Amino acid sequence: MTDTHTAAGPLRIAIVGSGPSGFYAAEALFDALPNVEVDMLERYPVPYGLVRLGVAPDHAKLKSVIAQFEQIARRPGFRFCGNVALGRDVSPASLASMYHAVVLATGVNGDRTLGIPGETLRGVHAAADFVGWYNGRPECRALEFDLRQESVAIVGQGNVAIDVCRLLASPLDKLARTDITAHALDALANSRVREIHLVGRRGPAQAKFTPKELRELGQLPGWQPVVDPADLELGEACRAEAADPANPFIAKNLQILRCFADAPRRKGDRSIYLHFLRAPVAAKGEGRLQALELRRQRLVGVAGQQRAVDVDGSGRLDVGLLFRSVGYRGIAMEGLPFDVARCVVPNEQGRVKDCEGRHLPGWYVTGWIKRGPSGVIGTNRQDSVETVQSMLADMPGWIAPPRRDSDALRDQLDARAHRVVAFDDWLAIEREERENGHHRGKVAEKFVDETAMLAAVENARGMRQEERV
Ligand code: NAP
Repeated sequence: MTDTHTAAGPLRIAIVGSGPSGFYAAEALFDALPNVEVDMLERYPVPYGLVRLGVAPDHAKLKSVIAQFEQIARRPGFRFCGNVALGRDVSPASLASMYHAVVLATGVNGDRTLGIPGETLRGVHAAADFVGWYNGRPECRALEFDLRQESVAIVGQGNVAIDVCRLLASPLDKLARTDITAHALDALANSRVREIHLVGRRGPAQAKFTPKELRELGQLPGWQPVVDPADLELGEACRAEAADPANPFIAKNLQILRCFADAPRRKGDRSIYLHFLRAPVAAKGEGRLQALELRRQRLVGVAGQQRAVDVDGSGRLDVGLLFRSVGYRGIAMEGLPFDVARCVVPNEQGRVKDCEGRHLPGWYVTGWIKRGPSGVIGTNRQDSVETVQSMLADMPGWIAPPRRDSDALRDQLDARAHRVVAFDDWLAIEREERENGHHRGKVAEKFVDETAMLAAVENARGMRQEERV
């Protein structure tokens, strides 16, 4: 079937989203097919999704994956279409009419709430918003976080919670060299935070953070992680979980937590308290957050499936700032199927299914919007390979798109004078961000506003034109 398509022109695939899962899907397609064109749509003028907007600025190593994505972007047949959002600039039906197949790699952009009274008080925020604010997500640039507060609680014990905690406690001179946004750096420079509480509803054996990230909490100058040794006494099911060779992270986390618990308190240090078996019950305050009420929990269930239930005993943390970091949540896209319970696009090995469970021909999905927000960047590679394998198996049944010329999307957007950002344009934005950062001794000073990004593109295009004349 590949030959048939080759004879009739290349296969044309649209990938929606330019984060890791989108790039890995493009790579798998280029590796498998000799004659394929991939248009990668991205709603922002800049690529890389969570690598740009989610990975913490002090974790530069994690961003090195961008070099691989640049290689993929240079493969013949690849085209970046930045500033083009599915639903906003092109409808699903219209997109499907221009490509043999569409791969959704949009990630998950919502956050889960706690569902407790007081959650809308001033001073209560989604961790995802804080992450977007320090990383330059355009929608988050005008948010304000009151860092004059001395005590902060973070509910949830995953890696996002740790990122938020570490950013609040990192030495400023270290952050100042990264690509953290200027507004976040300024606010952190005036921070009065002295106490951070990381609150988990389950025990230390169920914490979702990874050992490397947990260990870093013990390496923050002037800060000390504090753990109650009683919280590290494990029941039988927890001991079984900790001994499971399939999940070596648990034993490593426990070892690190024991070191934290054993360390003598250092006078004058600020504190990161790790609380286990405490569930948030209510956020309290007059007009703004003043305290978080907690209820003690115990675990029930067999190893690997333990859940937290209430027991007698409550507590209260006097905090002026609260971040809920209890996971991201996929958001439904108009005109496309959505599993409301799991907050993902329903699928079978990456084939999108409609509400009756039938495959939606030509539609595929990969990454967090396929499986939910789990795993690390590399997890998306295998996920995208699986989706592309489903595509390859289905290819003989694909119907050629009514508009099969490679400029179909471009023509439609040009007709509305919509500006599409090409990969070279992005490289010009990136160059300018690096230059702006260089003047301040930083890796980069990111644009945080789409208008400024597009202005940088116009500027660079103008300069390229002048050079040609
Ligand atoms: P996560 O790993 O799923 O952690 C969510 C945390 O929230 C869990 O501790 C969970 O506890 C808790 N939680 C959920 N609902 C709750 C509720 N109603 N009340 C109290 N606690 C609740 O999510 P995440 O931290 O957002 O991370 C998302 C993904 O990104 C993960 O795969 C993570 O590893 C990845 N990530 C990686 C890095 C890195 O590699 N450095 C950095 C950031 C993120 P239960 O277990 O009891 O549900």
